[in-house]
Amino acid sequence: MRKDRLAHYRKMLVDKHRQLVEEVGKSALYGKGQEDDSIKDLGDQATTAYTREFLFELGNGDRRLLKEVVTALQKLDEGAFGSCERCGEAIAEKRLEALPFARYCIECQRAIEEEERMATG
Ligand SMILES: [Zn+2]
Repeated sequence: MRKDRLAHYRKMLVDKHRQLVEEVGKSALYGKGQEDDSIKDLGDQATTAYTREFLFELGNGDRRLLKEVVTALQKLDEGAFGSCERCGEAIAEKRLEALPFARYCIECQRAIEEEERMATG
């Protein structure tokens, strides 16, 4: 892949990384059980519990995504960025443009999702 393309993806990944660190940091605060008066004022325990659970779930998703972004940055440093971790083929630039942290080409991603669906029933 050309150097200017790699620099472009690195910038995207670094921006995403910064954004996720902020998000994960915020949800970690909720996880510690900080009382938020604006939530308490709703006076609905069920809603509060639901909101907490939702934020916690979001935090988990962000953490997983953060790990993928870090992995992609490592691949950039190792010169392995842009190749599929399953078949070794180049990942389409259109796909990387949307998901710069994609680990697999579209064919392998589909195959993996199919396998996961079979495994979980
Ligand atoms: Zn592949």
